[in-house]
Amino acid sequence: NKQVILREYISGFPKDSDLYISTEKTMPLKVPESSNGVLVKNLYLSCDPYMRLLMQKPEGPALFTPYTSGSVISGYGVAKVLDSKHPDFNKGDLVWGTTGFEEYSLITTPEIESLFKIEHTDVPLSYYTGILGMPGMTAYAGFYEICNPKKGEYVFVSAASGAVGQLVGQFAKLMGCYVVGSAGSEEKVDLLINKFGFDGAFNYKEEHDFDAALRRCFPEGIDIYFDNVGGKMLDAVILNMREHGRIVLCGMVSQYNLDRHEGVNNLMRLIYKRVLMKGLVVFDYYSLYTKFLDLVLPYIKEGKIVYVEDIDEGLESIPAALVGLFSGRNVGKQEK
Ligand code: NDP
Repeated sequence: NKQVILREYISGFPKDSDLYISTEKTMPLKVPESSNGVLVKNLYLSCDPYMRLLMQKPEGPALFTPYTSGSVISGYGVAKVLDSKHPDFNKGDLVWGTTGFEEYSLITTPEIESLFKIEHTDVPLSYYTGILGMPGMTAYAGFYEICNPKKGEYVFVSAASGAVGQLVGQFAKLMGCYVVGSAGSEEKVDLLINKFGFDGAFNYKEEHDFDAALRRCFPEGIDIYFDNVGGKMLDAVILNMREHGRIVLCGMVSQYNLDRHEGVNNLMRLIYKRVLMKGLVVFDYYSLYTKFLDLVLPYIKEGKIVYVEDIDEGLESIPAALVGLFSGRNVGKQEK
């Protein structure tokens, strides 16, 4: 059973060599008698920014089971059930959820509680690591459930070309909002405008003054900020929020590799502007998954939403793909 192993806990920017591939472990392809789990063959594995936080020594309570140094890492994936002792799953089922980064995995409690059966196979299966999986639910919950958007509002999305951001921008356009995104290259800026239909976009790596860039893009100010990056961008957005605006704190990818997180200085503005700022944890919204599919599947089939993925072949490609998320190497949703 080929596996991706975390060599040891890290600090700072991750390197490909922090992970290695092991072929040492053998695994019987049956669920043990004592377990009520499922044995799966992993088909697609998803590289997500939160995985970096699990590569460091755990401190305090965490949302995910932290990685153990010297052991296989885990993350989201699409898999096929080869054997099941769980009443909800049968041999041959396709599923998505948390699995091991290895060829075959035994999925048991607690991960099996949020393992979803894939009912719609007339779309690419890899979509269940992105638009139809955890990142898709994140975009949906953050935008519709937390931001309470209205037609004509001004929406800003950071890390806008990524797995979550590209979808937030398209939801906002379908709602009749004005949408601008930031991303880290000219190629991505082009994608935002010409592929996803954003009204505007800028390359944050070329902007020395984020406040000025935002004032240029939003002369009237921002109603909704979907924050994927935190740090200096969040601080600059706060200066540009309109009264009664909403900020969803989805992720802070600009901070994940820093030992000391950058401070946010402009928070007092949120008081005067009566802005609502709320943290998002996607699992809290998994009960809405069917409602989400009912909205998104028709959009995909009618071509009203497009989705860009960045797929590499083989477990060997995972270390570089995961590390690449922090240099912006991925264009769209990163999978293997
Ligand atoms: P992406 O597919 O967008 O990949 C990460 C991207 O972040 C990179 O491609 C890169 O794009 C950008 N990035 C990397 N480093 C920096 C930096 N220092 N400053 C600004 N941008 C940077 O990831 P996702 O769409 O999967 O995730 C987006 C955010 O949502 C992340 O923060 C993630 O942790 C969070 N998240 C939160 C969830 C929740 O429940 N709260 C659930 C899922 C995701 P570029 O080239 O543009 O720099």
